[in-house]
Amino acid sequence: MTRKTAQVEIITAKRAGFCFGVKRAIDIAFDIAKEIPEGVYTLGPIIHNPQVIEKLKTEGIFPLEDISDIRNKEIKALIIRTHGISCHLYDTITSQRFRLIDATCPFVKNAQRYAQLLKENGYQVVILGDSSHPEVKGIMSYAGEDVVVVDENTRIPRLKTKVGIVVQTTQPVEALKKLLSNIIEHVKEVKVYNTICNSTALRLKETADMARKVDVMIVVGGRNSANTTQLAHLCTSLPVRTYHIETEGELRKAWFVNARKVGITAGASTPDWIIRKVEKRIIDIGGEIL
Ligand code: SF4
Repeated sequence: MTRKTAQVEIITAKRAGFCFGVKRAIDIAFDIAKEIPEGVYTLGPIIHNPQVIEKLKTEGIFPLEDISDIRNKEIKALIIRTHGISCHLYDTITSQRFRLIDATCPFVKNAQRYAQLLKENGYQVVILGDSSHPEVKGIMSYAGEDVVVVDENTRIPRLKTKVGIVVQTTQPVEALKKLLSNIIEHVKEVKVYNTICNSTALRLKETADMARKVDVMIVVGGRNSANTTQLAHLCTSLPVRTYHIETEGELRKAWFVNARKVGITAGASTPDWIIRKVEKRIIDIGGEIL
């Protein structure tokens, strides 16, 4: 979307804000809040955006820091976030007295299913991703005891002759290409499930294209959001003035001096209402520059 004041043209990325999986999870959470007025929890923050977490609290939905906290709370419903959880944890939770609401992104579910399928068909599962990420930890639990997690810079460890690959949904496709060209030297048979979700790649590409055409880039989203930070790093690596903000209150008039075009992008966990407030504030500032 493009908006203009007399001095500033503001372009908001089409892909700014919630991806499919996050929107689905947030919709599920707000629907449950209408049905069950209290005792609804999410296992960890449902998304990495402090403003959305606060809004959910006003609707009676609170994040649990740790699964052990279920002993200390009156839980009526527990929501699993988009990253998913391990199959062991899933089994533990389903045996509890409260309702379990699974908001795992369907693309992450696919990666879990493929990992299980590969294991059942006798493949050693290799996951391309970050072993410390909750999504990867969840996928690992479906992949069997001989699972190996690698990232694009890991030296390929000793593998069995028959290997199956699944990928953390947010990995770049270049990392998968690199892994495949490396792994082929080490094994006789490779089966690949490309479980990359292209939402992240498309958002990065759109942001890079936009950053090359504007004077200032505003990246909106939680500072604890990995994909928002990734967008900010990308813009910072390009010759454009870049500012990462969580809310419109952080915008400063001085950032827009002599700027003719301003680009706005936002991470997958940034809601539309925050993006609209940022647009409005920049328009106000643009007016004041006149
Ligand atoms: S980035 Fe893709 S895989 Fe991750 S939650 Fe969004 S839609 Fe699902």
